[in-house]
Amino acid sequence: MNMSATAPLSDAMRSFIEGLPKTELHLHIEGTLEPELLFALAQRNNIELPYDTVESLRAAYAFTDLQSFLDLYYAGANVLRTEQDFYDMTAAYIAQARADQVRHAEIFFDPQTHTERGIPMATVFAGIARALRQARDEHGFSSVMIMSFLRHMSEAEAFITLEQALPLREQYADLWSAIGLDSSERGNPPEKFQRVFARCRELGFRVVAHAGEEGPAAYVSDALDLLQVERIDHGVRSEEDPALIERLIKLRMPLTVCPLSNLKLCVVDDMRQHNLARLLRAGVAVTVNSDDPAYFGGYMNANYLAVASALALSREELVQLARNGIAASFISTAEKERLSIELEQYARSH
Ligand SMILES: [Zn+2]
Repeated sequence: MNMSATAPLSDAMRSFIEGLPKTELHLHIEGTLEPELLFALAQRNNIELPYDTVESLRAAYAFTDLQSFLDLYYAGANVLRTEQDFYDMTAAYIAQARADQVRHAEIFFDPQTHTERGIPMATVFAGIARALRQARDEHGFSSVMIMSFLRHMSEAEAFITLEQALPLREQYADLWSAIGLDSSERGNPPEKFQRVFARCRELGFRVVAHAGEEGPAAYVSDALDLLQVERIDHGVRSEEDPALIERLIKLRMPLTVCPLSNLKLCVVDDMRQHNLARLLRAGVAVTVNSDDPAYFGGYMNANYLAVASALALSREELVQLARNGIAASFISTAEKERLSIELEQYARSH
């Protein structure tokens, strides 16, 4: 990462970004497992790790592409065994998000990563939900749970996961309202999950999918046409198809962009080449998010600061990114209104 030629942010700009009220729409809870917590959970559960120290584990976070990250990510998730483990991980994320002035988060979780290892579906739901409800009750921090299918697995396995989760739907109706699609994109096109997504929509779930991160722009079009998603996660490669960009603008289709993730996984070589600013200025409904922050070097503020600096974003553009996040979220109109008022007041008074 060469940021040397990037103009440093002024103190005033930095504090403006740090205080900006934000929503986070693309966050994998398993990707928030910091090495320190990972070690603590391994110890608690008597799991042997192939790393001696927190430092040696952190040093392994040098990825060459999406797959090299996923290999380590799934190995890390192996320390999650009990309801308390899922709670501790989620509570740690919320503390960090609140420090970054995140008001609302929509959180992916991958039950298949856990049920494959014999962890009951109910354990996963219970731990995550307990932390989210506590944050809502104690701090007014709102959230949505997005159950995500792993696209390197089969559609039949996604159907089984859905069946396993449905009995929990009523118990978690205040949180779980959406379905996502993540993991290895290349070779796993949207059409592979067309039927299970149709079923999820029929059941009344909101649906989103990762597309156009490493996969081609055609995967973004297919996610819209075949999966009928309401948001595209990443979508940065949409730019390779000008007609698709026109369509995204017309639809006001949100893209949940994750700048530090794109840099760390070599989707872009240099933050100054990131297309977030171009897409924003063209009128695409782009948002800023942290994806797997423990692995990619930063939470929400770090992502905003990185793009503001590398792409010379103006205050108004930063506010527009935050506005896009509110508009693209799955909260009620009344909640959107409340967050918008707070954001506009902040923008006017800083
Ligand atoms: Zn993601």
